[in-house]
Amino acid sequence: MFNILESMFKAVLIERDDRPYRASFTALEEERLPAGDVTVRVDYSTLNYKDALAITGRAPVVRQFPMVPGIDFAGRVEQSADPAYRTGDRVLLNGWGVGEHHWGGLAQLARVKQEWLVPQPTAFTARQAMAVGTAGYTAMLCVIALERHGVTPDSGEILVTGAAGGVGSVAVAVLAKLKFRVAAVTGRPAESDFLKRLGAAEVLDRAQFATPGKPLGKERWAGAIDVVGSHTLANVCASMRYRGVVAACGLAGGLDFPATVAPFILRGVTLAGVDSVMCPRAERLVAWRRLGQDLDPDKLEFLTEEIGLSQAIDRAAGLLEGRIRGRLVVDTRR
Ligand code: NDP
Repeated sequence: MFNILESMFKAVLIERDDRPYRASFTALEEERLPAGDVTVRVDYSTLNYKDALAITGRAPVVRQFPMVPGIDFAGRVEQSADPAYRTGDRVLLNGWGVGEHHWGGLAQLARVKQEWLVPQPTAFTARQAMAVGTAGYTAMLCVIALERHGVTPDSGEILVTGAAGGVGSVAVAVLAKLKFRVAAVTGRPAESDFLKRLGAAEVLDRAQFATPGKPLGKERWAGAIDVVGSHTLANVCASMRYRGVVAACGLAGGLDFPATVAPFILRGVTLAGVDSVMCPRAERLVAWRRLGQDLDPDKLEFLTEEIGLSQAIDRAAGLLEGRIRGRLVVDTRR
């Protein structure tokens, strides 16, 4: 006899109806999954900054209700209506509006469009792929953006802001492996040893970047990866060396950019924007291949904490308050 429990899966669910915005850990029927060509048994997901915004409702990330959050996942194909994938194939997904417009990865099952998936890189297990997650894949896109604009280890020092967070910690580890000299900016001096073990040559206090500065400062950095925005990004731009390159991907300190054009028109500084969500497939594949090559698996494990799906809601606020070190990987079985 058909057992309804067999067609149920566990998920985080965000609702907003006649009652206020809320997230719960619940069981859902498989038939509630959205339309899509490929059904995936999610093995691991992660808690990213955007997922924490979605769960807490602190920013309007969720565009449709009810919503299963989770902007990324790694798992195995359970069923595919598209010949590109077969049952059992190992796949992963980052972005494309999943967890915002379309049910996402903080669940045991997901149903998505075939073109949003990429094969899981052979260098990683599902857990490792999600320890990297969208934050790590974005860190790699930032490193590639610096390289594309000609920054090499011989160009000079690289600055990484929000260094003890998800994007920052993976960026520090990758840059160090590529032999860049990395200065890590953090508001958590207690994480200095953590950052040095990831490969930072120097750790700087974020307070020195956080307030309004001069249009141009001392020329120091050949490259920078910024996850903070606001005054921090403005001060980073002002302290770049002639023809330095800044990869900007985040807003952990604010969406504003209170800067002048001086670094761009007087020092030829390049500000390279990095978006992981709609990034073309070919560039995703390159980023994931590079992560398999340029991210030391021991460092990845060192910067990763594992939680169960049932704990995701409780950890979201702490992530937004900058209390999570490195990456949070989510085991969907518990
Ligand atoms: P985390 O929360 O893991 O890390 C953010 C880090 O930023 C914190 O750990 C903290 O680092 C620092 N920080 C937090 N608040 C402030 C503040 N008010 N002022 C200065 N520094 C602060 O998030 P992620 O690393 O996952 O994401 C970082 C940013 O990148 C987010 O804004 C996220 O939305 C964005 N992002 C963008 C993507 C894209 O496609 N463009 C993809 C992925 C992420 P510390 O404690 O070391 O000071």
